[in-house]
Amino acid sequence: MLRRVIAAIAIVASAALAQVPRKKLLAIGEVKGWQHDSVSHALATIERLGKESGLWDTYIRTDTELITRRKLERNARNIDFFDAILFYTTGELPMNDEQKTALMTAIRDQGKGFIGVHSATDTFYDWPEFGEMIGGYFDQHPWNTFNAPVIVEEQSHPATRHFPKDFVILDEIYQFKNWSRDKVRVLMRLDESKLDLNNKRVKRADHDFAVTWVKNYGKGRVFYSSLGHRDEVWDRPDVQKMYLEGARSAAEPGAQKRPICAQAEWFVNCSRHA
Ligand SMILES: [Zn+2]
Repeated sequence: MLRRVIAAIAIVASAALAQVPRKKLLAIGEVKGWQHDSVSHALATIERLGKESGLWDTYIRTDTELITRRKLERNARNIDFFDAILFYTTGELPMNDEQKTALMTAIRDQGKGFIGVHSATDTFYDWPEFGEMIGGYFDQHPWNTFNAPVIVEEQSHPATRHFPKDFVILDEIYQFKNWSRDKVRVLMRLDESKLDLNNKRVKRADHDFAVTWVKNYGKGRVFYSSLGHRDEVWDRPDVQKMYLEGARSAAEPGAQKRPICAQAEWFVNCSRHA
């Protein structure tokens, strides 16, 4: 009986999924700085998660050519086609002013989602608006790759609901500059009580090392996590679920039509930011 109920639920669920048009995700793995070995596996995993869940189709690129409002030839889609843009990038990417305006307009004014993976915050130091949109910039990883003690601050968000209150993960975690928790909603941070704070590369006097956050940028939704430096991290079901729900929430349709406080379940605490 139970098996039949489960089978029936699965059929209903797959029918429901089939009726929802899949989102279009532009995933960019362009590198103009440090080359992470895990970029290919990360983007392949993102593509698989979208396919298996029926939530999105992924267009993987290693350049930013599609980030433009200009009409492109030979079946190339421009940014208007996409619901969300994901960056696993480094360095100063060769985007001209029209492309930069197109990206910011898409997120801020059109409400498209932005998903930043690991070194997405190690990107575009020369473009302050990008740092403002994503929430901050990389400022060293004082402990390199280590058994990072993580505290899940928000277990009410779909991206972190499945994690225990604290856990340890072997990964490279960043310190951030031009970052303040007043401007983002922190979902995870490092447990400062378990860190070597005498490390010479520690610069943050407040010892606040966020790992994953969400924020609003105009009408758009931004999801960022520094998890994912290592290939193996992408094979963890809990990290996969985090990126699945993070990307889903960033690309949620119609979110931009709701008043900002209605987004508080996922994004910035509206009592501080209304
Ligand atoms: Zn890294």
